[in-house]
Amino acid sequence: MVINRKELIAGLITKARGFRFCGPGDDPDEQTAVTSGYHYLVTQFKRLVSPILSEPAASRLNLIEVEINNIYSAYEAKAELDALLPDIEDALEVADTAATRTPIPRAAFAGDDCKFARQAIEEARKSVSEQDGRPHPMVGAVVVKNGKFLSAAHRGEEPGNHAEFLALEKKLSEAAVAGATVYTTLEPCTTRNHPKIPCVARIIERKVARVVIGMLDPDKRIRGLGQQKLRDANIVTDFFPHDLMTEVEDLNREFRRFCEKVSSPESQMDSRRSFSQARYEEWRKLDEEMRASTRAMGYAFESHNVYRPGDPRNDPGAAIQRGHDALRSRILIADALKKTGVFEKWDELVLYAVSAREPRERGQRGAPTPLGYDLRAKEFMDELGRVAREDLGA
Ligand SMILES: [Zn+2]
Repeated sequence: MVINRKELIAGLITKARGFRFCGPGDDPDEQTAVTSGYHYLVTQFKRLVSPILSEPAASRLNLIEVEINNIYSAYEAKAELDALLPDIEDALEVADTAATRTPIPRAAFAGDDCKFARQAIEEARKSVSEQDGRPHPMVGAVVVKNGKFLSAAHRGEEPGNHAEFLALEKKLSEAAVAGATVYTTLEPCTTRNHPKIPCVARIIERKVARVVIGMLDPDKRIRGLGQQKLRDANIVTDFFPHDLMTEVEDLNREFRRFCEKVSSPESQMDSRRSFSQARYEEWRKLDEEMRASTRAMGYAFESHNVYRPGDPRNDPGAAIQRGHDALRSRILIADALKKTGVFEKWDELVLYAVSAREPRERGQRGAPTPLGYDLRAKEFMDELGRVAREDLGA
């Protein structure tokens, strides 16, 4: 099917000029309608207009934030888009009619699709996994435009890099990719550790027109998000045919099993338990540290012992500091334990931590209080109280 891009763009310009906005004080439903409507408008502009713009104008258009979540971000997007409208009109005027007649990629699975999907699977088989003791997916990607093969890559072809990134960024120039179809055996990723850019963002940025996916992400928590993001950016998504999907799933059975295990409620409880156990061990070790600091404090306050600054045995300041550090760590550990939701004795532990902070009462053994101790003790108590309150959210 051939459609007239020029007419579509003219329609978009009219829409943008006539777009009815509302204010931040208006009905929330109305604001939501405005922000989602404007989000849709911006994505349409990016998809249809970018190819006919000069490079600087196209990059300004690309920079407009597409994640419009509130009326303010809609205002920002509108200001930027409005400023670009004259450029877009100029470009539309000079645009070659033939160039604006672009075949829209077919949504149905047909023709060479099978061939390229197969090629992506062959590519996936070559994947090189990180040696970190856990299974990783095997992924292959093939980039095709107008029925012609442009590039192919597999996961780990360059250590730690994803197949889509390698096929699009490392092997193809900017111009070649716009309007292309990417065949990838695994749903493109939506999050990567900073500063790596997720493959979905790259695919959108490079104006790929269609993505054909071999398998959704087996991790239940993120399954489908990649496909949804592509669809939100108006990129056509399709899946490999049934038999080829089965092949991809077979290829990744170890990774799939791993994901299933990791996301099962039992395994999540297990990992929380082992985390709790490790933290609890730390907690117990700090007990000894606290006892030692109490002993040192007691020693320092005995009347027959001479206060010697810097001597760890009878410098109460140093002893207090040790106790302080240990207690602070304990409260942080208690907090970590509380967050796992496994350790039921959290309240008991915190009570214990807070009560154990009490230094020896002044003059309890009839010992003279070394100069400065009261002040330090007060600081110590205040600080612990603050940490504990903060920790307890009080
Ligand atoms: Zn990726």
